[in-house]
Amino acid sequence: MTYRLPQEQMLPSLSLPLTFAHNRATMRTQTFSSEPKRGAGMQIQFLGAVQTVTGSMHMLTVNGKRILLECGMYQGRRAESFERNRHLPFDATQVDVLVLSHAHTDHSGCIPSLVKSGYNGNILATPATRDLCSIMLRDAGHIQEADAAYLNKKRKPGEPPIEPLYTQQDAIRSLENFVTLTYGRALSIAPGVTLTFFDAGHILGSAMICLDIEEKGEKRRLLFTGDLGRPGMPLLRDPYIPQDVDILLIESTYGDRLHGSTEENIARLRDVINQTHQRGGKVIIPAFSVGRTQYIIYVLHQLLAQEQIPSCPVYVDSPLSVNATEIFLLHPECYDEETRHFLMDTGSQSPFAFAGVHYVRDVKESKAINTLRGPAIIISASGMCETGRILHHLKNNIEDSRNTVVIVGWQAPYTLGRRLIEKQERVRILGEEYVRRADVQTLNAFSAHADRDELIGWFKAVQNPHLQHAFVVHGEASAPTALAAAMRELKAPLVTVPEPGQRVEL
Ligand SMILES: [Zn+2]
Repeated sequence: MTYRLPQEQMLPSLSLPLTFAHNRATMRTQTFSSEPKRGAGMQIQFLGAVQTVTGSMHMLTVNGKRILLECGMYQGRRAESFERNRHLPFDATQVDVLVLSHAHTDHSGCIPSLVKSGYNGNILATPATRDLCSIMLRDAGHIQEADAAYLNKKRKPGEPPIEPLYTQQDAIRSLENFVTLTYGRALSIAPGVTLTFFDAGHILGSAMICLDIEEKGEKRRLLFTGDLGRPGMPLLRDPYIPQDVDILLIESTYGDRLHGSTEENIARLRDVINQTHQRGGKVIIPAFSVGRTQYIIYVLHQLLAQEQIPSCPVYVDSPLSVNATEIFLLHPECYDEETRHFLMDTGSQSPFAFAGVHYVRDVKESKAINTLRGPAIIISASGMCETGRILHHLKNNIEDSRNTVVIVGWQAPYTLGRRLIEKQERVRILGEEYVRRADVQTLNAFSAHADRDELIGWFKAVQNPHLQHAFVVHGEASAPTALAAAMRELKAPLVTVPEPGQRVEL
């Protein structure tokens, strides 16, 4: 079902006074090239997630104000990531306002660095995004501190100590800058610039950023998709179809690939659970804490309610996953119609609560899962099996042929998750080698990103005679160029795959 909110139903624009940035700290910053001229016309600079999928960051200059679209963390090789995330490519004190599409770290993870560098403006996000950032940024701060402590232990005499990129306290401090705005409500965020968030259908709170801009008497609508979800996914509303877009920034993560259908994927999960249960085995699901975990829990709830899988204990074993699920519970306004009907029909209080589901924060409780006999389903983080409690569950279950590991997300090369997908016979877990006897099943269609056909379908619906320029961002290798080619075939007027750091007059 497509969720649409026609422009005429939009609520009247509210005005929010701008808090202009002032210098709070004097961290060194680096720039790609000269700072954009404030007197010039509207322009955009593509600073991150350009021909790659991490570190989403674009700077829009309009009416002399600098509007930062996202402040994502770059995730790549350690040394390069550290440098890029520490030294933002602009002067943070000169940014007037930040708009955030959703809470994923590659879109929000450098917010504490931005605030630490002296930014004191507003950070506009949906309420659910703000709440997810509250746990995710703190978690990122904790990881940065733990990483720095680990590296300092290995430091050679005379080497300078390694400072964390930011701390949990820096993350908490940055939460003070958030101002929330619900979907479909218009808010003036800078002179001549009105912001409206629309459903992106990607994760809880995810939004497209729609800016209605008036500059020198000319009115234009700029739309940035953020990450675009899949239509027909459980829980969230479908991606919105905006009208009258003049300038479009579209993501292209899967611009050259297809996922397969959600229904088939759920049917395969059902079959895997049934077969493993018959063998008396356990189903182990490594899953990202925010989004994928809640999606799987809700699918299990639906399958149980329809008696398509047998009742057995389900463990959600990750403190971050448990915290994230609590945030999902706080935001029923983000659920789609189907979820609301499911809750009414089954008399359930929540998509994530059913007989047999256990949420585990405590380490002792987590260890107790290892001693359980008989069928169970264990969902744990991290999603790529690199860190976290999932490693203990894999270690304890990988050598038992009754068990199945179900991979539900993309696995980067050289990760344990990738080696499992490849069904390698021997795998190293926590420093020890194990013989993989458990079955491994890969279910690709649980992706929270639209695939090639869905991106093209969405673009077809959005394309209009006003469209002046489309920029394809957030995609790796051939994905952005493939999507750009498909858009040109649809007679899109001007489609650009920008270069990193490129600045374009609009
Ligand atoms: Zn995302």
